[in-house]
Amino acid sequence: MIPERSLRMTELPDDLSLRPESLEQFIGQAVLKERLRVSVDAALHRGEVLDHVLFSGPPGLGKTTLAAIIAREMGSNLHSTSAPAITKPGDLARMLTLLEKGDVLFIDEIHRLNRQCEEILYPAMEDGVIDLVLGEGVAARSVKIHLKPFTLVGATTRSGMLSAPLKNRFGLDLKLDFYDTEDLSMILKRTSQVLALKLEDDATLEIAHRARMTPREANRLLRRIRDYATVEQVDVIGSDFVQDCLERMGIDTKGLNELDRKVLRLMIERYGGGPVGLKTLAALVDEEDRTLEEDHEPFMLRLGLIEKSPQGRRVTRAAYDHFGIQYSSSDLFS
Ligand code: ADP
Repeated sequence: MIPERSLRMTELPDDLSLRPESLEQFIGQAVLKERLRVSVDAALHRGEVLDHVLFSGPPGLGKTTLAAIIAREMGSNLHSTSAPAITKPGDLARMLTLLEKGDVLFIDEIHRLNRQCEEILYPAMEDGVIDLVLGEGVAARSVKIHLKPFTLVGATTRSGMLSAPLKNRFGLDLKLDFYDTEDLSMILKRTSQVLALKLEDDATLEIAHRARMTPREANRLLRRIRDYATVEQVDVIGSDFVQDCLERMGIDTKGLNELDRKVLRLMIERYGGGPVGLKTLAALVDEEDRTLEEDHEPFMLRLGLIEKSPQGRRVTRAAYDHFGIQYSSSDLFS
């Protein structure tokens, strides 16, 4: 009744070896980890399936990693997909019916699930059933399929876009925050061990400072620096070498890349600091507005370089200072 090819499980990214495998190995996010630890231990103790979990936060902070950790800690299978890949309710229904007891179904970007698919999830999450309508017109009939108990782990960069009925069905609603330099340094140390790299402490700190408070970015920078070290036959990586590499990569002292700087400069030089609408900015830098909003803005907001208002985005005095540009008070928020 549902075509075989409709089951699309996405592959996990290829950096699995860099991913921590247990909650203990997962660095930072102490409050979140504690809440998850209690729920996992309680479920294991009672021999129950873990309640559904929602992770929200900017990209690269560890949502996918935590989904895999949950499956491992619960001793269950992980099935991974993302909402844009699930186009038809039948696809999702089929995924759900294939789950074994205790399995974890991870849906990335869950805020992008379409309405009909969301409606399949409501009874599935709440009562462990799905209601399917088979056939059309007078021949249409409704069937109720009972599912094996499972854990849905949803990840979203935009929790505000999740509908309330869906959000309410997650027993655990956990938010990931940006990482501080200390936690990022620990992550970098672990990664350098995995990659068998000799990284000096001040070099680690330098990368951590410029990694956008994000583990994925920290690991990405380290991999590129490793490339430079390989090509230039550098055995022990020190902070001068790191600074030189980051400069060549276009990463500045605050961790801003070329696109971030382009956006900020446009706002300052062409719009007197703003407000500027997201779509206008995206068109000017030739990027998707989603990319700007999800990948670039959260970090710049967090650094206090921009602020959002109903009229659009505005740069703050800190952004002018960062570029060494004289600001006029009319450019600023009152
Ligand atoms: P998200 O799903 O939030 O976009 P991921 O789980 O894919 O983020 O994490 C991105 C990368 O950062 C992965 O390679 C992962 O190993 C690493 N990472 C994320 N959080 C941590 C952490 N707390 N400790 C160690 N590595 C981490």
